[in-house]
Amino acid sequence: MNPYWSALVHTLTPYVPGEQPKLAKLIKLNTNENPYGPSPHVLEALKEEASDALRLYPDPNADRLKEAIAKRNGLTPRQIFVGNGSDEVLAHVFLALLKHSKPILFPDITYSFYPVYCELYGVEYTTVPLTDRFEIEVKDYLAPNGGIIFPNPNAPTGKLLGLAEIEKLLAANQGSVVVVDEAYIDFGGETITSSATSSVTSSVIPTATPLIDRFHNLLVVQTLSKSRSLAGLRVGFAMGHPDLIEALERVKNSFNSYPLDRLAIAGAVAAIEDEAHFDKTRLAVMASRTTLSEELTTLGFEVIPSAANFIFVRHPTRDAGQLAAALRSNNIIVRHFKLPRIEQYLRITIGTDEECAALVTAFKGILK
Ligand code: PMP
Repeated sequence: MNPYWSALVHTLTPYVPGEQPKLAKLIKLNTNENPYGPSPHVLEALKEEASDALRLYPDPNADRLKEAIAKRNGLTPRQIFVGNGSDEVLAHVFLALLKHSKPILFPDITYSFYPVYCELYGVEYTTVPLTDRFEIEVKDYLAPNGGIIFPNPNAPTGKLLGLAEIEKLLAANQGSVVVVDEAYIDFGGETITSSATSSVTSSVIPTATPLIDRFHNLLVVQTLSKSRSLAGLRVGFAMGHPDLIEALERVKNSFNSYPLDRLAIAGAVAAIEDEAHFDKTRLAVMASRTTLSEELTTLGFEVIPSAANFIFVRHPTRDAGQLAAALRSNNIIVRHFKLPRIEQYLRITIGTDEECAALVTAFKGILK
């Protein structure tokens, strides 16, 4: 016991993020970053903002950014909340909207930060087992609850829950907030392939955002870390009914007036406005995901069909921990969670085609 620590601190088991190695030569497929750089417009906006203006505080409400996000999503700025990465947005969500007398519900296999926030803020929770095929069943979320949260696509499985099912979940839980954490949604959806060039040309993003105007209990959380290639800038946001947004603003303004600095606001606006770069890079990641999934299947892996920028795979005879260690000796890092039901799986971020090819070559050597 440390006498200087609060009683709460003694009980905490913090979240452990994936490794950010200091060695530049490693092929990094462990934290679901985008292998492509951000839009050149982002870099220009950052340079322009890096001026004497930095002596002034940023806009505490980041109005420019809220307007850009609202415009892109067919919403109003009063339906938008922004924060320092979606992790911070989620933290405020747990305190502002999910802390009630009844336990909240989330899947047993999911983003492992959720139970950490529950512990920090004293939010009761019950985990709901995914099916054997790692699927969310809406009928399992009908018990009285203080709220529901799940990633869509789910992490680390990459499985997508369809909009019709989300609508059923929202309709059946009108008395509580349903949070859909769409960190990876921009990599989901059916892809449309050009018959002439056989390249992926577009995809409809299966976001739950269009349901916001009908369901006042829906909060959609997104991030610029994945599909906008800005994990290093730390920008996330939530979209929902203005009453839900106001709850988040109250918590935010009791915590930090300026979670987004001037650079983050300028860079994020430029990223949201560059739809062409967004489409080019996310479609490239989705095409590489198809190729890598096929190649790993050929090598004998079981690959769960993914709607995200990572795949979740298992080898029928090789231990996942040993495979991860062997890849590491080949200078490739992937994520291995030593958790019940998934300890024999590896989560592999989709890299560039060269990085994916290096992974396949390494696996061929290891499996020999
Ligand atoms: N939600 C999920 C499901 C995630 O996997 C992540 C990334 N670890 C986040 C939210 C947080 O992302 P960020 O804080 O970079 O926006």
